[in-house]
Amino acid sequence: MNTAEQTGAAQQEQIEALKAKLLHDIRRSVYVYRIDCGGCNGCEIEIFASLTPLFDVERFGIKVVPSPRHADVLVYTGPMTRAMRLPALRAYRAAPDPKIVVAYGACGCSGGIFHDSYAVWGGAENLFPVDLYIPGCPPSPYATIYGFATVLGLLEQKIRGQQHRESEEEKGVELTVPAGINPNLRKEIERTARRLCGYWQGKRIAADYFKLLAESPDDVLDYRLEGYLSRKGDPRLTEVYRAIHRIYREWVNSRA
Ligand code: SF4
Repeated sequence: MNTAEQTGAAQQEQIEALKAKLLHDIRRSVYVYRIDCGGCNGCEIEIFASLTPLFDVERFGIKVVPSPRHADVLVYTGPMTRAMRLPALRAYRAAPDPKIVVAYGACGCSGGIFHDSYAVWGGAENLFPVDLYIPGCPPSPYATIYGFATVLGLLEQKIRGQQHRESEEEKGVELTVPAGINPNLRKEIERTARRLCGYWQGKRIAADYFKLLAESPDDVLDYRLEGYLSRKGDPRLTEVYRAIHRIYREWVNSRA
């Protein structure tokens, strides 16, 4: 093996290692970009069927994206017509490395019924290395999901999956509203806390604030609140408490 061949082999090994890492260490949804390279549209219909609520491929974290620049996986359908060769190559180059290439349907795998036409190049493998072949004319949504699940290691993840049980800490809190608090005021405070901090955390903050209200006579309320916030030392929490306390004070003043 000469030096150029050794460098090529080393690069190839590196690419394979990066792909394996992408497939098994990915901790988020997998982004898929689809390129129609001149098929009859049958494959597209089955891919879209996989996205419908009946098959719902997104439940496995497989999401279709509108640009190859965001894609982890490129899916090539159709027999690679001459007109689509350059756009197909452009999409391949635009997708960040490491990327997984899927040849979809009989046409994507080998040119299918168009394989001997003067106008086609044959399967996607004639242009770039293919990692997964999903055969069929067209492949059913079952075959599509199975193909993706296999290549992404999802089956292994499902088998080893653990059931998560909600701890006491994760459970939601019950709001105990002090006597005399108007329901509209309660709603406004809770809604503001949730808007600023999210549904789960906002409700906890509102519950803590109502507890403070219930335990503090009005003349020491501001003092206790400031003491609590300085102990916490969290500027974001301070902002949220001040916002809901302002709502409370405005309500008290409007009744005076
Ligand atoms: S594989 Fe079949 S369904 Fe898919 S593009 Fe080719 S002819 Fe159409």
